[in-house]
Amino acid sequence: MVSETDRDGTTWYECDLCGLTFDSREEATEHESRCDAEEPSYIQ
Ligand SMILES: [Zn+2]
Repeated sequence: MVSETDRDGTTWYECDLCGLTFDSREEATEHESRCDAEEPSYIQ
């Protein structure tokens, strides 16, 4: 799911799967629906 994070007075939306942050909930939600971090085989 997407987490909201307040930083310097700005709200960021973070993908819980891979940690990427976005400045809009729409972008974060769209990213998360396509996020492939659930299979972290490429992460050493
Ligand atoms: Zn992600």
